[in-house]
Amino acid sequence: MTFEIKERDLLARIGRLKTKSGTVETPLLFPVINSTVQPIAPRRIREDFGFDALITNAYILKKNFQNQPVEKGLHKFLDFNGVVMTDSGAYQILVYGDIETTPEEIVQYQEQIDTDIATILDWPTGWKFSREHAEHTVDETLKRAKKLFKNKTRRDILWVGPVQGGRHLDLVANSALEMGKLPFQIYALGSPTEVMRSYRFDVLVDMVMTAKMNLPIDKPLHLFGAGHPFMFSLAVALGCDLFDSAAYAIYARENRYMTEYGTSRLDELEYFPCTCPKCSKTTPKEALEMLTNERQIFLAEHNLYVCYAELKRIKQATKQGRLWEHLELRAHGHPTLLQALKRLKKYESFIEKHSPATKKSGIFFFNSVGLTRPYIVRHRKKLIERYSPPKEAKILLLMPQTQLKPFHQSKEFKEIKKLLRSTFNKYLNEIHTCFYVAPFGVIPIELDEVYPLSQHEIALPLDRETIDYVAKQVADYINNTNYETVLLIHDPENWNRNILNTCRKICVKKNMKFKYISIKERRSKTMLTSLKKILQKALCEQP
Ligand SMILES: [Zn+2]
Repeated sequence: MTFEIKERDLLARIGRLKTKSGTVETPLLFPVINSTVQPIAPRRIREDFGFDALITNAYILKKNFQNQPVEKGLHKFLDFNGVVMTDSGAYQILVYGDIETTPEEIVQYQEQIDTDIATILDWPTGWKFSREHAEHTVDETLKRAKKLFKNKTRRDILWVGPVQGGRHLDLVANSALEMGKLPFQIYALGSPTEVMRSYRFDVLVDMVMTAKMNLPIDKPLHLFGAGHPFMFSLAVALGCDLFDSAAYAIYARENRYMTEYGTSRLDELEYFPCTCPKCSKTTPKEALEMLTNERQIFLAEHNLYVCYAELKRIKQATKQGRLWEHLELRAHGHPTLLQALKRLKKYESFIEKHSPATKKSGIFFFNSVGLTRPYIVRHRKKLIERYSPPKEAKILLLMPQTQLKPFHQSKEFKEIKKLLRSTFNKYLNEIHTCFYVAPFGVIPIELDEVYPLSQHEIALPLDRETIDYVAKQVADYINNTNYETVLLIHDPENWNRNILNTCRKICVKKNMKFKYISIKERRSKTMLTSLKKILQKALCEQP
């Protein structure tokens, strides 16, 4: 097997990709080597920076060096003993129009230079093009993809099948579906570079998700031109396993300094917010005084360190089940990233389906953006599809979340439990306690220890969308069950009147009895006394 998955979180995977020059761990970033202007030698990229793979352009190699890489072999030619991937020149089509080679020549050339991972000469859709053009690029790419399997002569090279279609999502879906039928070892999303350059990360989410949902899910997915570390976690969370980046070098030429949360111009910086080996020995002022070439190398090296560090953080977060928290952190680096994170709502069901069920750590809930998280979606689905309350239950006692978790061990519940045991012992089976809880909705008491219903932390006061979400879950729960009476412990401080109004409305609609007690009385004995009276009356009135 070429690709083996070791860990998952959201759609992210930590995996192992086997190539003829060695096995590499994913998510993996391939720094782009421009064989004509390269600020850092390929050998150093592995030895000093830790990158086990790199990518270079087969078309540029062919155009500038013709047979040299063929005679020496690509690894020797580049002086790099890791994994080498080659891109085909498709990007040059996008920038310069047609190029002076044919799809067959590019396939043959990549075999001759002995690359490890090769790309067919696809036809990139680009960004601001008509639908007709997009359709043409999808068809032409598919035609070339099919031809590959007739023309290739080696079996030890991994081939990449790019998906096209650009912002026309139905075309992306179709392209992914058709490419997915061909036996590529790796798939890729083509032409997102301009989408990313214009900061349309929400469109990128649509493109990646559309491709992902229509490709074989167990195959690795490469995102072409995903250059900036501040969006790596988004791409990884969407299930991109491989990336290439030329940005570290391009930004360096433009005196731009990358951080994991954005970009600064070198002349804006008074301090370096970085402890990489370069930045810890230099100040921005000193960097500005360097010769142009020296400064470019300095910046390219720093940029590469930042990329690598962010990738390691993402892997660690994936392993700990904290990738969502990491995503939220990064999303606050730029409004367009937060917008992209919000777009995940559209795909929450697919993400939930393919996310792992249990992780070791508890989850942090900051605000309603987190409502898309798989655990929350999963709890909602399970409650609707697979849960029914105990058969004898006639009264739903609905309590607000307590500070202490699991809820059944809280002081608030213990007081009520004492009352129920002492006064209503005969009827215990008829009274079913559930909690209304942000962010999950309704948690039946017997489930409150199921992960992560007790293993989460939330920030109070809750935002409006979260309150509305929980209220909707309460309404759905009451609607889908058959209690005779709903008895709500109303908590105006944390929930305003939302839960109260929701319960009342749904009970009127279903013609059920509804009572409530306000929690304000909690500290006095009045609440328990009221509760006792209401329960006595309710149980008396049972048929
Ligand atoms: Zn640095």
